[in-house]
Order: sequence, then C-alpha cells, then structure tokens
Amino acid sequence: VTASDGNKKISRVRVAVRLRPYLDKEDEKGEGPCVRGLDKQNLEIVNWRNATETVKYHFDAFHGPKTTQQEVFLSSVKPILSHVLNGQNASVFAYGPTGAGKTHTMLGSAEKPGVIPRAVREVFNLVNARDEDEGWDYSISMSYLEIYNEKVLDLLSPNSQDLPIRQDKDRNIFIPGLTSTTISSFSDFDTHFVPASLNRTTASTKLNQRSSRSHAILLIKVVRTSRVLPHRQQTGKLYLVDLAGSEDNRRTGNQGIRLKESGAINLSLFTLSKDSLGGSAHSVMIANIAPEYKYYFDTFSALNFAAKSK
Ligand code: ADP
Ligand code: MG
Repeated sequence: VTASDGNKKISRVRVAVRLRPYLDKEDEKGEGPCVRGLDKQNLEIVNWRNATETVKYHFDAFHGPKTTQQEVFLSSVKPILSHVLNGQNASVFAYGPTGAGKTHTMLGSAEKPGVIPRAVREVFNLVNARDEDEGWDYSISMSYLEIYNEKVLDLLSPNSQDLPIRQDKDRNIFIPGLTSTTISSFSDFDTHFVPASLNRTTASTKLNQRSSRSHAILLIKVVRTSRVLPHRQQTGKLYLVDLAGSEDNRRTGNQGIRLKESGAINLSLFTLSKDSLGGSAHSVMIANIAPEYKYYFDTFSALNFAAKSK
C-alpha cells in the first residue's frame, strides 16, 4: 500500500502478519496448516508447485495463533498513537481474505476487544496524561464510514448515502457532508460507535455479504490549539481501517458485477491511502491470514501483497 503524492515524502509502511488459530479442532487433525510461523518475524507457506518445499517470508512482525489482542495492540499499534497528538497522521489497516480475522483484529468482541477500542482508549489516556504546561488544548472527534463500490456511506448518519470524495488544493482528501462528532471520553466514543457498527452489520446481512466487499473506516481526529501562540492549531488523524476481503474475485467465480466491485475497492483504497500514507504518516498494515488449506491461494497472494507493501 504505497502512494506517490507529488513532492510529499512517502513514509514506509510497517507490515505485520497475524495468523489466526484453527476455528475447528477437527480440521487441525486433518492435513495440518498450509502456513506456519518460524519466529517473531518469519513464516513459511507450503509451495504449491512442490509440497515438500516451502516459501519463506520476512515481515516487521509475525503474530502467531496464540497471540492475544493485547499483544497485537502493544506491538503493532500503540507505538504510533502518540504522533496523532502531535499533529501527524497515523493509520492501521487490517488486510487479508474474508474469514482470516480482520474484524476480529480491529473490532474484536466484548471479551476480546480489538485494535479499535484499545487505540481509542489509549488516545484519551495520552491526552489526559499530557502536561498542562505544554500549553495545548485538545479536542477529539470521530467519523465512521463505509466505502462500498465507490460509494461512501456515513455510518454515523445512515440516511445520508453516497457522499462524494474530494481533494483540496493541497491534495488532502475530504468528504463533504461526512458527520464529525466530538467525543470527550472513551465511553462517549462507545455510545456513538456501537450503534453505528450495528448499522454496518445490518446492512451486510441484507446486502449479501456486503461487509466482505466494503471498507469500514473509523477516523479519530485530534485537534490541538495553542494557549500560548495565537492561531496555532495542529490536526492529527488516526485511521483505523477494516479493509474489504482481499480474495481474488476472478478465481472465486464472482464474475460481472463483483469484478467491477473489486476494481472499485482498489480505487477507493488508493484515494484513502494518499491521506493516511502521505507526508509524515505512520502506517501499519496487519495482514490477517488463516491456516486452513482452503485459504491457500488467498493466503499466498495476501502474503505477496503484504511483502510488496513494506
Ligand atoms: P474477516 O473479518 O477477515 O472476514 P473475522 O474477523 O470475521 O474475519 O474472523 C473469522 C472468524 O474467525 C470469526 O469467527 C472470528 O471470531 C474468528 N477469529 C479470527 N481471528 C481469531 C483469533 N485470533 N482468535 C480466535 N478467533 C479468531
Ligand atoms: Mg470482517
């Protein structure tokens, strides 16, 4: 996930791979996993041309099946959050095939909260821990949207469909009309986020697995205003993104309309990535993969894409 953006310096994307555990223990007793970790940065996948060989990959981090939500957060996400308070952008993208654990990683469950609740909690902790003497007042707001087939759906205002994506003269991406809600605490965030997430889930069951073909993007904006220097204001944006499934629609036999959607996914992703990856952005991609052989080709192409993104 790289974008060239005029003269702006493009920062490197940190790439972590997370291999989820078997969901069904019976499966594991069968042919075994097609992919396995070697250590904290290396993994290997069976070579489909010759099953006695493997193909090896090196990443910034490898999170094996026993890795907890807290460990993923501490190693891959927490280190980039303080930049957002200093007026820089940061982003976390969950990438990978449908069923490999993107939503588990980003959202998680009540018992195993994922990156989103942990990161938002931490942003409030960091703001509250900042020394008054530094002379800044912080204000935090959230937006939450879904991009499906080039269309933007505002999850905080589900009746406003199909908002446009625009670029200003400095090539910053913005979406006119997108709801931005001020939040003053984590529980305030939760009050808005939980029903909005349900909007997405409802839509997905109605519209035939829509969630596997759409991006869900949570934007946490931190604006700080100087109490010392007049008119001095800085904005840092944190994007937390649950990407559309990376599976190849041609191979899975989803011809026609789905193929068009697959192209649209890439276009809107590129648009988004210019804002979150350009300039001084701090970006992390968590490539989620699954151990089962039925995911083999999707896993293989996800690993190749992830390896290219470094
Ligand atoms: P995706 O969003 O990529 O389609 P999900 O996050 O919905 O995939 O994960 C598919 C299933 O696997 C879900 O039932 C989820 O709870 C489970 N799962 C994913 N990752 C893990 C994990 N690390 N530990 C336990 N269960 C997981
Ligand atoms: Mg999902």
